[in-house]
Amino acid sequence: MTGPNDYYTADEIRRRLSISTLVFQGYRPFGEEALEELARNHIRRIELVESPDQYDLSDIRSMRLVDATCRKCGVEVAAYHAYMTSFEGVDTESQRQERVDVCRRQIDTLLELGGTFWCCHAGAGEEIVEKSYVELAQHTEGTAAVIAVENFNSAGVQVEDRVEFLDRLDLSNVGMILDVAHEIDADGVNPMTAAGEASAIINRCGRHLRHIHLQGYRDGDGHHPPLVEGDEIQWHEIFTTLAAIDYPGEFTFEPRGMLANLETLSYIGQAPERLADLQ
Ligand SMILES: [Zn+2]
Repeated sequence: MTGPNDYYTADEIRRRLSISTLVFQGYRPFGEEALEELARNHIRRIELVESPDQYDLSDIRSMRLVDATCRKCGVEVAAYHAYMTSFEGVDTESQRQERVDVCRRQIDTLLELGGTFWCCHAGAGEEIVEKSYVELAQHTEGTAAVIAVENFNSAGVQVEDRVEFLDRLDLSNVGMILDVAHEIDADGVNPMTAAGEASAIINRCGRHLRHIHLQGYRDGDGHHPPLVEGDEIQWHEIFTTLAAIDYPGEFTFEPRGMLANLETLSYIGQAPERLADLQ
């Protein structure tokens, strides 16, 4: 077990490692061929990105097919990334209830597939979002599901806003996804690239931090593999701080399109050893 003030071994990182299927988006369809490519690179867990042209996260028949394909390839679903499901454009109470119902069904299929983290792009913490999240939290009570909201570099949804939102909600099954490429300070600097700042952000998230999107970041742009040449992310500080707060979640890597860089999957496959070696 990793205790406070420790660092992670390669084995511990690999056990909790997953990759977002964003890596396939725009390059190859979700399916056996794609999953086998992951398995060949020792990547056994995925965060499934919402992709309505390929499967419907809210439809159990559709998701059982996804589950069967994953199992066949020895891959597990750890999380859903329901990035298209938000409360934007909801004007009436009946529209809101309909949206909550879609979220509930997504969470139900996630649990049936053995996943835990339902990740979404909840809009800014307005009344409508807060009310809906309280209802979703009630729905997941007594299950393993964690509802996680992501930070973005725009007004109302940065780390500080998300932490305030979660402080207000104060629900044990609703937490935060910290995306290490999405926070930019007033000077245009990503604090996760600055020594001392990266740990401050993680500590600010504190008990709310349930999930993390990891990616390399260089020249003002994220979604790179970790430790790629020129990567500015403070990897050692991030993993040291996660260990110190006894972070309970996944290490989910979110590089974009594998054909944009043929080495992407091999970078992710080697990440546990390379990150453990930073100690
Ligand atoms: Zn992300």
